[in-house]
Amino acid sequence: MNDEVETVDHSDAAIALQALRDSLRDCSGCGLCRARTQVVFGEGNAAAELMFVGEGPGFHEDKQGEPFVGQAGKLLTELLARIGLTRGDVYIANVVKCRPPENRDPTPEEIEACSPHLMEQIKIIRPRVICTLGRFATKLLAATELSMTAVHGKAKERNLAGVNTLVFPVFHPAAALYTPANRQVLEGDFDKLRLLLARGLECVRLDAAEDAGEEPAGGLPGRDVHERMRGSSGRQEQLPLW
Ligand code: URA
Repeated sequence: MNDEVETVDHSDAAIALQALRDSLRDCSGCGLCRARTQVVFGEGNAAAELMFVGEGPGFHEDKQGEPFVGQAGKLLTELLARIGLTRGDVYIANVVKCRPPENRDPTPEEIEACSPHLMEQIKIIRPRVICTLGRFATKLLAATELSMTAVHGKAKERNLAGVNTLVFPVFHPAAALYTPANRQVLEGDFDKLRLLLARGLECVRLDAAEDAGEEPAGGLPGRDVHERMRGSSGRQEQLPLW
């Protein structure tokens, strides 16, 4: 007897995502439709608190129809495990939903044509935190021209598609595949992401509020929380807002 129970998500968000997915199956909104095998819509939990947005499908994603299934995807799965999450806990999408030929960068026109679909996904999922993977997603969702070096590991409050969310840029996992130093930076940023998910803006604003002699928004956390967030130096572990 098979004990496995297949769980199907019948929530409004899951139904809305499925309808959007169906509407885009034959999308010809930009030239990328000509070379793609299939649209890579996105996958994961329709009620995810955390959403990841990458650049665009690569070779394996184009063949399999799922985001981040190649080597960069394997690293993303490992980074998720590091912070106690699985791919089923989060939602994963891309700035463009069709593979740019030869894995070239998506053009501004392609991004403009495809980004309304990403915004629609954000509107349906309503994630509390959006982790942008690399410069294309960061530029689009954090609305910045700053470099990844300047902004990675910092949270930015944004209203996207009517959803108040925190955009948290990290380097693209592909940049860390063969460069151990980049992998260390990415791991450090995922540790901060775990803190951001657990504490929200409290972990971003704690220092500023204490410096002003105020209670942080939402009240003072218990003493143990302060102790845990204090590094060995005695300073608060905090994430900068930008
Ligand atoms: N790189 C991306 O940016 N997205 C994918 O889905 C896979 C690799």
